[in-house]
Amino acid sequence: MKFYKDHYEVIIIGGALAGMAAALQLQAKGIKDILILEKHNLPGGLATDYVRNGFEMEATLHEMMSIGTKEHPLKVGQFFKDMGVDIDWLPVPECYRVVLPNSGIDVTLHDGYERMAREVDSACPGTYDKVLELMKLCRRVYDSMNISWCP
Ligand SMILES: Cc1cc2nc3c(=O)[nH]c(=O)nc-3n(C[C@H](O)[C@H](O)[C@H](O)COP(=O)(O)OP(=O)(O)OC[C@H]3O[C@@H](n4cnc5c(N)ncnc54)[C@H](O)[C@@H]3O)c2cc1C
Repeated sequence: MKFYKDHYEVIIIGGALAGMAAALQLQAKGIKDILILEKHNLPGGLATDYVRNGFEMEATLHEMMSIGTKEHPLKVGQFFKDMGVDIDWLPVPECYRVVLPNSGIDVTLHDGYERMAREVDSACPGTYDKVLELMKLCRRVYDSMNISWCP
């Protein structure tokens, strides 16, 4: 470890999303001598995939939030923009589709709290207020995590 400490300004343990994002941010602040140590044979950590019988399977990531549009990026989109990472994101017009064959429920949910609550209410009447309350609670939890460590 002494060798590494003598040769690098920063050592990051783990070459996945957090480690690579930290390295990008440090680099943007002028720190160039960064070593990322990864114990696996591939970078990416949980955000990985595998191929079986010609099908590529996502192990975890299937969707990313807080991207926004090119013109109006949200937090994650802004991070990529600041870091000079240009990705052509594929927008997902529907958030979820719930299919319960035995009850005849087949409802597609779109983004927007009120719209989503209305769509759930159309399948399960009387749930609008509760769903909206849940969505607002989710928003408060999300906002509470939305803190910035780097001034
Ligand atoms: C089933 C599932 C579905 C998910 N779906 C989504 C989704 O749709 N959208 C989304 O945004 N997020 C999703 N996530 C969450 C997302 O995948 C993770 O939050 C993210 O990949 C975590 O990144 P990380 O860098 O923090 O940690 P990790 O990916 O866990 O990376 C840690 C890295 O550190 C390495 N490491 C650990 N110890 C050492 C050591 N001693 N020396 C060297 N290297 C070490 C590991 O090998 C690994 O590469 C999902 C997660 C799961 C499990």
